[in-house]
Amino acid sequence: MSRTKPPPQQHERLRRPVRSAARPEQVFKGIAVSAGVGIGAVFSATEPEAVITRQKIHAAESGSETARLDAAIVQSRNQLTKLRTRLAVLPEESQVEITPLMDAYLAMLGSSRLVRGARRRIGETLLSAESAVVAEADEIADNILAMPAARAEERARQRRSAEEVREIGRRLVRNLTRTPFRSFAALPEGAVLVSEYLRPADAALLNPARLAGVATEEGGLEGHSSVMLRALGVPAVLGAPGLAHAIQPGDLVIVDGGDGVVVLNPSPARLAAARRAAIAFARDRQRLGKLRRLAAETSDGTIVELQANLELPVELPLIAQSGAQGIGLFRTEFLFMNRETVPDEDTQTEAYRQVVEAMGGDPVTIRVLDWGGEKEIASLSAEGLVPEIADTNPALSVRGIRMLLRVPELLEVQFAAILRAAAYGPVRVMLPMVTNPGELHAAREIYERVVRRLRRRGERLPEQLPPLGVMIETPGAALGADMLGATADFFALGTNDLTAYTLAVDRSDADVAALYDPLHPAVLRLIQFATQAALRAKIPVSICGEIAANPKLVPLLMGLGLRSFSMNASAVPRVKQRIRAVEIAACDQLARRVMEDVDPERIAALIEEFSA
Ligand code: PEP
Ligand code: MG
Repeated sequence: MSRTKPPPQQHERLRRPVRSAARPEQVFKGIAVSAGVGIGAVFSATEPEAVITRQKIHAAESGSETARLDAAIVQSRNQLTKLRTRLAVLPEESQVEITPLMDAYLAMLGSSRLVRGARRRIGETLLSAESAVVAEADEIADNILAMPAARAEERARQRRSAEEVREIGRRLVRNLTRTPFRSFAALPEGAVLVSEYLRPADAALLNPARLAGVATEEGGLEGHSSVMLRALGVPAVLGAPGLAHAIQPGDLVIVDGGDGVVVLNPSPARLAAARRAAIAFARDRQRLGKLRRLAAETSDGTIVELQANLELPVELPLIAQSGAQGIGLFRTEFLFMNRETVPDEDTQTEAYRQVVEAMGGDPVTIRVLDWGGEKEIASLSAEGLVPEIADTNPALSVRGIRMLLRVPELLEVQFAAILRAAAYGPVRVMLPMVTNPGELHAAREIYERVVRRLRRRGERLPEQLPPLGVMIETPGAALGADMLGATADFFALGTNDLTAYTLAVDRSDADVAALYDPLHPAVLRLIQFATQAALRAKIPVSICGEIAANPKLVPLLMGLGLRSFSMNASAVPRVKQRIRAVEIAACDQLARRVMEDVDPERIAALIEEFSA
């Protein structure tokens, strides 16, 4: 039986003697995309650039040019299919991230808009295959980026989609121009990979156990390459200008993926500090991993519920790994996006059922469609179901529950699908953008009508119907929380919109981004008031805006009375770690001090001091 040597542990690798630096130390600042400290010899992975030499063709060549494009498509598909099969050797978290991306790439090489558009350009505008691909990919990517986005995550998703299209365009061009792809076959164990850029599909060629770190000149925090490097758990800094051109064979490199710093040929003192930091990081990661099985409980025994926000089904495995106890906000907008027609009841039931089943008995709070404001959805406009988004003030116009009550058939189908999915596990139903009890009453009437109809149809429904609750995400809903609490089954505080509406700051407008402050005393007072109103009404209350994911803010929110937090799955371990380190009495005291203050800077200082 052959035995393979186990991969060396990070700290063993660090103890190995490294070449002393003959060249001077150089420090590069980049974007911190994947935490951890990596130390190793540089491995340069540059790649020849694909050069397009011919822009236009003659009409007689359009047939042969289309044939060239088709051959490049087949070649690209073969390359990606091969890479996809190699993913099986990567850690499971990485496979979860990269497999859907590979599938998206492969789909784009099928009968996609990119392929159809490139073929059309060859025939109609007589562009060479390379130029046609570049022009079409650029146009699709620009269109994606021109779409409005209400949330930072939505904007990030658009950037990633645009990047996917451009990436497939680049692969086709490389194959069309016969420019070779780089290989990582010669990457020595324990090296730091340095290059101009890293494409997400390269992940399939890297072995994280043999790689000390990655540093590139291009790339940003939210791109696929960053997501992939985080999933691989490799320390990484991207977007460090000048780096790839500064390296020389034999250089020693430190990659600090927490601070976003790359050091070439570090001084002995810096090298020693980096070794200590690498060991501390490895210990910290081990501790966070162990947290998954521990309770979210303060040091003096107050139990807190930590749940995850779900935006796309691909996030489900990450939620399972995070230790979250269910889903506190399942945003359903994705189901209606990127399609030409509105999903029917069976399609929606299937989507909700999959999520409910995947949570294995942990509760799932499904929010009905939150359309409007800046959340535009093409399939709804295409079917003429929704009014035009107001030019003047979309955020104050028909959105969330207001739209659903105008188009009750949409709400009925969604309620029916959620109720049917509730036969597979505990579910709660949540209404977005409710500002008055009339909206809740009207929605409840529809809900009960749908229940009766499903029962007549003989559908299997849970004995106890899913609770019907509301998002508290406007100042009106927060100040009217006593009124809403009389009929709502639960509250979820949506502090993203609550902050925007309270401070009159558009969430996606960079010009006023500095004014967007969830710690503004006005926002904190609304959070406190709505939380206390829920406690008075004896209904559950949770918080699912971005601030619930911030370990520094959670003690304050607990002091304001909150015990249930829903956040991005990746934030769960650190929030849990923070909760386990505090006493509830100290959280209460912090909240009292903060609420007595009216100066946002002092409030921020009190919070910093508490978490120091
Ligand atoms: C919120 O507004 O805080 C919220 C959670 O909803 P969304 O971000 O989907 O608008
Ligand atoms: Mg909202």
